[in-house]
Amino acid sequence: METLRLDGRLLANQIQQKLKEEVRTLPRKPRMSVIYVGDNPASRIYINMKTRIAESIGIEVTVHKMPEQSNTEQLTCFVQKLNEDPSVDGILIQLPLPKHLDTNAAIEAISPSKDVDGLTSKNQGGLMTGYPTILPCTPLGCLRLIHQARPILTGLNAVVVGRSRLVGRPMAQLLLNENCTVAQAHSHTQNLMDICARADILVSATGIRGLIKRDFVKPGAIVIDVGISKTEDGSIAGDVDAESVMGQAGWLTPVPGGVGPMTVAMIMSNMVNIVKHEF
Ligand code: NDP
Repeated sequence: METLRLDGRLLANQIQQKLKEEVRTLPRKPRMSVIYVGDNPASRIYINMKTRIAESIGIEVTVHKMPEQSNTEQLTCFVQKLNEDPSVDGILIQLPLPKHLDTNAAIEAISPSKDVDGLTSKNQGGLMTGYPTILPCTPLGCLRLIHQARPILTGLNAVVVGRSRLVGRPMAQLLLNENCTVAQAHSHTQNLMDICARADILVSATGIRGLIKRDFVKPGAIVIDVGISKTEDGSIAGDVDAESVMGQAGWLTPVPGGVGPMTVAMIMSNMVNIVKHEF
């Protein structure tokens, strides 16, 4: 069986092109504030990439750099100031935050109507209960990729490996909303291989390099690799051992070039929707 590549870069470019046209029709440019605490080389690269793409679409970005030693109260107070600033449409906190900071408190401080990442309890609750909400970008990007392979997911078995607030939980909920039968695996799951091998759609978001091997994949399955880990030579790798699942999976996202670009495209899409008041 041939394994088809689900090209996130290509799809993200198409989405961003459409967004650029949409932004031209808006009464003014959307404005996004990015809060960046400390100095993490990977975060710096991601922020530069998001800024470059946002500006190419016509979204204005301001990066607010806070010192590494900032405390949670200083961070939440700053978020509050941005909440009250009518010139700011969307707020994004670059994760991960330095370890001494309370990430949940920082996320909850964002006004749900400016929560570009869709991570506040109100927006995640909306995803669960079905009222219009800003959806989390990475799971939303994964879903768009899955739909490239199969437009209708009703009745399919889906397995999500990982249960974080950022990726795993909202991903499982999105698939449930698509009428999939969903299993959620995590670090205490027993017989992970057997559970994954039942999946028509397998999404892995653990950060454990090579966790998903050929025997974990049902023939023809759609496999979405969210994980990012560093290899010895400094390049990045995913959760899926791509070489071993080739010829077994029906579709596979590459790392890099799969979920990463789609996450950025969904941030931009959420920004445009916020300004259009489509939530
Ligand atoms: P977290 O560390 O918050 O969550 C990891 C999850 O993996 C946890 O739920 C953990 O289980 C689970 N896990 C760990 N070990 C195993 C195991 N052996 N078997 C099954 N499950 C396991 O990470 P995130 O959700 O924030 O991110 C996951 C990965 O996705 C990371 O590599 C991150 O870099 C990447 N990522 C990529 C993005 C992109 O755009 N491409 C965007 C966001 C994240 P438990 O809950 O029990 O601890």
